[in-house]
Amino acid sequence: MGKDRLFLASCRYCHIPVTIATRFGPEELETLLTHVRSCKPTTRLPEPPGIEGVLKHFEVRRTEERE
Ligand SMILES: [Zn+2]
Repeated sequence: MGKDRLFLASCRYCHIPVTIATRFGPEELETLLTHVRSCKPTTRLPEPPGIEGVLKHFEVRRTEERE
């Protein structure tokens, strides 16, 4: 269905764009987790940290890849 939709996740605390992906899978989850743990070590994350729990610490917006 046309262009790939990309999602950009930026950290809520430092506003750095951490990852961009068409979907957030295990690799993205790991990247986001690593970031939030070093950025905000006091953050309490659910155990196990699911993607939804982790994404609460990020602002996700949709972007489109240019053709
Ligand atoms: Zn951060």
